[in-house]
Amino acid sequence: MRFLVTGGAGFIGSHVADALVGGDHEVVILDDLSTGSRENIEHLLQDGQVELVVGSVLEEDLVEECMRSVDACFHLAAVVGVRLVIEQTLDSIRSNALGADTVFTLAARHGKRLLFASSSEVYGQGDGRPLTEGAHRAVGYRMHARWAYASSKMYGEALAQSCVRELGSEMVVARLFNVVGPRQTGTYGMVLPRFVSQALAGADLTVYGDGRQSRCFLHVDDAVQALLALGGANRAIGNVYNVGSPDPVRIVDLARLVIER
Ligand code: UDP
Repeated sequence: MRFLVTGGAGFIGSHVADALVGGDHEVVILDDLSTGSRENIEHLLQDGQVELVVGSVLEEDLVEECMRSVDACFHLAAVVGVRLVIEQTLDSIRSNALGADTVFTLAARHGKRLLFASSSEVYGQGDGRPLTEGAHRAVGYRMHARWAYASSKMYGEALAQSCVRELGSEMVVARLFNVVGPRQTGTYGMVLPRFVSQALAGADLTVYGDGRQSRCFLHVDDAVQALLALGGANRAIGNVYNVGSPDPVRIVDLARLVIER
């Protein structure tokens, strides 16, 4: 099959492309190389199974051209990283919400199956107790830029589900939790690569707050396996899935583990 991977030059997207090529599929990557890089996919461009289109998911004509040429789409293009989202809120809302709008509209128009990479951010701000999928959405302080990002992802989810319900489109939503692995950069705030580069430089590790907040970290290879399985499963259509690890780690323990390693 031939797949469109938006954001395919990014951390997770490049691993999705790797896995698709490994399964003998062809891949078209649409990426504006803002947070992704050619370096992440250089090894894929040489063998001809992957085509890189440098451009934005906001460019309708370009997205349409890509969408026409493929069988299905993984929509991963997004502004990511807490630091970037807070510094460039306008850009992140625009590319996440309008990007989803453009990509989903064209996938629906051309009858192409689509998997949307959403985020655990849509669960919002908890009060310390575990949340359930069916719980009411607990948005954090609405003036905080971080929740604008969560809203843009929530918009994407609602859009995908509406396309399924009203247009009969084949769309699946995967909510990614903290994914880690090779090619992830700490530039945009992600904790593990930041800790690793601080530790390698012999510097102190910057733990925010009291470090007792916890996250569940999932290796990118496992995340990609889940995304590919969901993208190919008929019974997943119209549903929303958590993609993450079930093992919470306190950030201060993560810091200790990184130092130990
Ligand atoms: N964090 C930290 N030091 C850093 C970056 C992040 O202590 O240099 C903490 C942050 O406060 C959060 C956790 O690590 O509790 C995960 O942050 P990240 O930005 O990686 O992911 P997210 O908050 O989106 O889950």
